[in-house]
Amino acid sequence: MAIADIVYACIECGGVETLRPAGDAETCERCGTRYCRVDGALIRAERPGRPPETRSAGEWLDLLAAIGADSPHAIRPAPVLLRIADRQRPHRAAGMYLGRIESFGPELEGVLSLAGDRLAVQTEAARFEWSLLELTAVQPSSRALQLKVRNGPLLSFKFPEGSAVLWETRVQRALQDLYTSLGRGTIIEFQPRIVTR
Ligand SMILES: [Zn+2]
Repeated sequence: MAIADIVYACIECGGVETLRPAGDAETCERCGTRYCRVDGALIRAERPGRPPETRSAGEWLDLLAAIGADSPHAIRPAPVLLRIADRQRPHRAAGMYLGRIESFGPELEGVLSLAGDRLAVQTEAARFEWSLLELTAVQPSSRALQLKVRNGPLLSFKFPEGSAVLWETRVQRALQDLYTSLGRGTIIEFQPRIVTR
């Protein structure tokens, strides 16, 4: 995982998705704050004229959430690689039916946007759009974000210039806001399926 997958916003200048690889570290392209790994799992921020700040991945995520870096108001459309899995595809080998498997289609280049209750991907050839209310699961898988659509396909999103963790947080937050506004309660689990209480 790149540091930018976890530190999706710069602690110094508040820039969202501004970290870029720079040698064995990553640097904020807006303010120059340098982020590097120390002791394996920790991430250290080095800011000019300030003491370095070292935290675990979980602590960084908590801090960024606490300062609202994942705010839905800050969401701009992002380049995305979308793959759509067709769960309905029968799997056969040597003429024998072996059940149904999830099989991902080709990778589609597009732009992902999240506004109100709509999630959309615009590619050169087509527009895909889903209501957040259609989602039954939100799950991260290594560097991708996977969303399950009710009675529909499994969607996999990769972010060549951004953070899957940030988008996972954004979708979860937008879902909770929507559920709250509809009086559907508090979401206590997003995977393997969305569960409320
Ligand atoms: Zn910065």
